[in-house]
Amino acid sequence: MRVGVLSLQGDFQEHLEALKALPVEAFPVKDEEGIGKIDALIIPGGESTTMGILMTRWGLKEVICKRAKEGMPILGTCAGMVLLAQEVENWKQPLLGLMDVRVRRNAFGRQRDSFECNLDIKGLEGPPFRAIFIRAPVITEAGPSVEVLAHIDDYIVLAKQGNIFACAFHPELTEDTRLYRLFLGL
Ligand code: GLN
Repeated sequence: MRVGVLSLQGDFQEHLEALKALPVEAFPVKDEEGIGKIDALIIPGGESTTMGILMTRWGLKEVICKRAKEGMPILGTCAGMVLLAQEVENWKQPLLGLMDVRVRRNAFGRQRDSFECNLDIKGLEGPPFRAIFIRAPVITEAGPSVEVLAHIDDYIVLAKQGNIFACAFHPELTEDTRLYRLFLGL
């Protein structure tokens, strides 16, 4: 299985490191050709506005959306979650719009810019997942075809719509590979 990590901006290197623990071939992708060659795509954390602008400028939006519609699994983490959304609250930025959700950026406010917590994730066996949130977005509204996999109070922090996964936290910063395995169907 060939897993591409979108490497325009953000913490793609951490994903590439983390994926070494899995039986997959992982490499950075940043152009149409690269995206054409992979079986799954990860969109990392970083700055979603910057990533969206670069994606649009380099014509990657179309090819990512095309591959998504053909069924390629896509995981967006943190800023990647924002980019997958159809709508961002009170803000205009280029989006892929692949998921029927509304997202709130930096939802946990400034005093809690970063935190860790134990999360129960639907479909993950074993102990709770240690989730690291860094200026994290959340899903505040989701359409009927979106499956909620984890939440903190009313905020959805992990969700799936068909082959598309959106994750508010950073699985690449922990040793726990269960979330990648769930996403990749391993
Ligand atoms: N707040 C950032 C954004 O919306 C995401 C932060 C992150 O990816 N760690 O782009």
